[in-house]
Amino acid sequence: MYELNGISKVYVTGKTHVNALNNLSIKIHKGTIVAIVGKSGCGKSTLLNILGGMDQPSSGTLLYEGIDLSRFNSPKLATYRRTEVGIVFQSFNLIPPFNAWENVAMALAIGNVARNKRKKMAIDLLEKVGLANRSGHLPSELSGGECQRVSIARALANNPKVILADEPTGNLDSVTSKQIMDLLKALNLEFRKTIVMVTHELDYAQNYSDEILTLHDGKILN
Ligand code: ADP
Ligand code: MG
Repeated sequence: MYELNGISKVYVTGKTHVNALNNLSIKIHKGTIVAIVGKSGCGKSTLLNILGGMDQPSSGTLLYEGIDLSRFNSPKLATYRRTEVGIVFQSFNLIPPFNAWENVAMALAIGNVARNKRKKMAIDLLEKVGLANRSGHLPSELSGGECQRVSIARALANNPKVILADEPTGNLDSVTSKQIMDLLKALNLEFRKTIVMVTHELDYAQNYSDEILTLHDGKILN
């Protein structure tokens, strides 16, 4: 699904250069769950952002299904993001004045789904994450775990092949975290979504992923 060859990322701020990723070469296979682990600041989010087309590597090539994303211009990258990947954040990033189905419908609108179809599709997606009965609730009326389910439903809106999740359980208690991990696993098994997730929890990496990538100072340890 992904093949990274010699990917580096250097952030330049004034005179400071940070080598966030250092000559990384990895493969991510279709239909697998890959966990990215490592200390804070080791480059996990940078890697995920590059996979999601939200950031560009400084050097190296990034193949997605054989196509070199590192040569894409920004409109082409935007299309890649909109059609191929679904993104889940630690802090959910829901729109506060929109209720659950409206948050999901927002992503359907971006995906050019006709206005009169959005509500039903949004509720169907909420059903997939076990939240159809809360579709009219605002984020402020939902628990953290429920908000994360809404954000996963939103990530599914464009029927992506890949789900990228940056510490999806980082703001959740352990019981709720396990439920979210079970949900991601179910999406992987049932719909063959490839999932790349950053996690602090070695337990989740070990119990839920097919492969663990340990980053240390922008390099793979294992
Ligand atoms: P992680 O997600 O593993 O905590 P990040 O990928 O966020 O790590 O960051 C890797 C390194 O790159 C860190 O040293 C961080 O400070 C730096 N970094 C991340 N984003 C930027 C940015 N936009 N500008 C400058 N430095 C950055
Ligand atoms: Mg991070």
